[in-house]
Amino acid sequence: MTESLPAVGAAPVGPVERVHRRKALSPSRAGDFKQCPLLYRFRAIDRLPEQPTRAQVRGTVVHAVLERLFDLPAAEREPGRARALVAPVWDEMCRESPGLADALFAGDADDSELHGWLASAGSLVDSYFRLEDPRRLEPHARELLVETELESGLLLRGYLDRLDTASGGRMRVVDYKTGAAPRQVAEARALFQMKFYALALLHLRGTVPTQLRLMYLADGECLTYEPDEAELRRFERTLDAIWQAILTAGRTGDFRPNRSRLCDWCSHKALCPAWDGTPPPYPGWPADPEATAHDSVLDRTG
Ligand code: SF4
Repeated sequence: MTESLPAVGAAPVGPVERVHRRKALSPSRAGDFKQCPLLYRFRAIDRLPEQPTRAQVRGTVVHAVLERLFDLPAAEREPGRARALVAPVWDEMCRESPGLADALFAGDADDSELHGWLASAGSLVDSYFRLEDPRRLEPHARELLVETELESGLLLRGYLDRLDTASGGRMRVVDYKTGAAPRQVAEARALFQMKFYALALLHLRGTVPTQLRLMYLADGECLTYEPDEAELRRFERTLDAIWQAILTAGRTGDFRPNRSRLCDWCSHKALCPAWDGTPPPYPGWPADPEATAHDSVLDRTG
């Protein structure tokens, strides 16, 4: 699939393809459980707060810029116009989350670190333009919330960064990653997420997406992947098995830690028995069905 996909009608920002509300599994929470059941518990059940890092918030800024870029007429989607969106997006985030700037840049008396950080967000936006030409495409949807129910009754819920469509019902799922270059584990987690979206679209639209495309902005690389239906059906069984394992652990409270090198990125090490910590008492499976189901914006920046 090339960058010159013809548009099949642009959807408004923030559209939703969904069924009804009930307990659901998101790609990030499923990935958490696969990585470490206790991490899943801390995030989805205890819902312990996590302090966002500068890299995560920068990812959110860059995602918002790339999403808004497509509000511009095609001919105006140029690097300068995109970079000019960085500061207004950041200002907006600060208005919506008072205290965010202080939390991220405490001690940055002359704002030099803030300016360097904003410049680094601009560099990631520049990097995007080395991977594709946004003047030559018209996304079908951006920030698309997809919800679908599997035959088992499990509800999947996730947000796509971008969906491109072309003649013949062809679909391309695009995901922007703003973290470091993909290492083996990060890449596996990203592909898991993309298969999740592909399976949701297969259920919603009856068609396997032609291509899944991960755009790694930090190192200017794309990873593309072409799923087939048999593989997605196997993946569906994997998700059902993960969900059953979550429900079993939810009943007993037995969410075991799985110590790995990824623990270095875990915000809850101090509470983790694998690191001599003590978790809070298990609060029980949440009565609110929405509690286990959502990916935060930060989850999706990668
Ligand atoms: S520190 Fe490691 S083992 Fe403990 S909860 Fe976090 S990811 Fe799991």
